[in-house]
Amino acid sequence: MNNKLTIVVPCYNEEQVLPETVKELGSVLEKMISDNKIDSSSKILFVNDGSMDKTWDLIEKYEEKYNYVTGLKFTRNYGHQNALFAGMKVAAKKSNLIITIDADLQDDVNAIPKMVDKYLEGYDVVYGVRNSRDTDTFFKRKTALAFYEIMRKMGVELIPDSADYRLLSKRTTEGLLDFSERNLFLRGMVPLVGYRSAKVYYARKERFAGKSKYPLKKMLKFATNGITSFSTVPIKMIMGLGILIVSVGIILFIYSLIMKFTHHTSGGWTSLIISIWLLGGVQLISLSVIGEYIGKIFTEVKRRPRYRIEKDDYTKKN
Ligand code: UDP
Ligand code: MG
Repeated sequence: MNNKLTIVVPCYNEEQVLPETVKELGSVLEKMISDNKIDSSSKILFVNDGSMDKTWDLIEKYEEKYNYVTGLKFTRNYGHQNALFAGMKVAAKKSNLIITIDADLQDDVNAIPKMVDKYLEGYDVVYGVRNSRDTDTFFKRKTALAFYEIMRKMGVELIPDSADYRLLSKRTTEGLLDFSERNLFLRGMVPLVGYRSAKVYYARKERFAGKSKYPLKKMLKFATNGITSFSTVPIKMIMGLGILIVSVGIILFIYSLIMKFTHHTSGGWTSLIISIWLLGGVQLISLSVIGEYIGKIFTEVKRRPRYRIEKDDYTKKN
């Protein structure tokens, strides 16, 4: 049997939850090893994404205490998606199956053995899908729903209510690592790799401790990135908007001409103001959409490294 599993856990200022995370993930891992489901050399890989608190010290402490705990340290904060990517890249060299999960225990760890079962049945990708969003606020639920709907309309296949909690086989991970884009949106990329996929349902819980690292501003940035990285529909929408505005303009033009000759209206101040503001607004929106794409081309063309690893204990320990 060679079913070596690596659980990749991105961590950014997670000192408050880490002890519990190690405990829970550790017991799930040990149970699966004793059940002979996975290889005894399976690991948990914590990717420290430039935490400012004691997260890395804790990871090092647990590395000494538990043979199955390993760590990867970034030189600074590179973001959740990059942390996942780095963890998968390192892990793919040594393991056959990789599970990614957040550090805050919002995703039920009991879904892990179920994911592994699906893998053993022959699936390459197993998505963790939330069957309830009770713990999310009304606002987050609604915005998330709208986001999936918009993405679907734009032709991007996402698995609704699945985030970055999933199992990937080695070959799927390798397929994912071939994507060279810098602006990562992993949950949109995974379905593009192909292979057979399955779903495992779980209930999403409250964060065990600490605060969300995705405040509204970061969430919006993530959503825009998802759209502009995967779709050129917004560019095409500018054209449609332009046609619409011009049509309204033509109607207004005819209307004002008729009014001028039949009612002797003075001024035309209203229509002037309306058109100036309307057109100004439309132009600004259009420019910002174009700017978004140009900005993206700019960052992609630079081909900057996604992250820099300061310490890689995973490769050392395997
Ligand atoms: N995270 C990270 N880098 C960041 C932000 C977040 O590695 O810059 C990690 C974080 O430690 C957690 C996961 O990404 O393990 C998800 O973040 P969080 O739970 O704060 O997001 P939410 O669940 O609120 O969407
Ligand atoms: Mg969370």
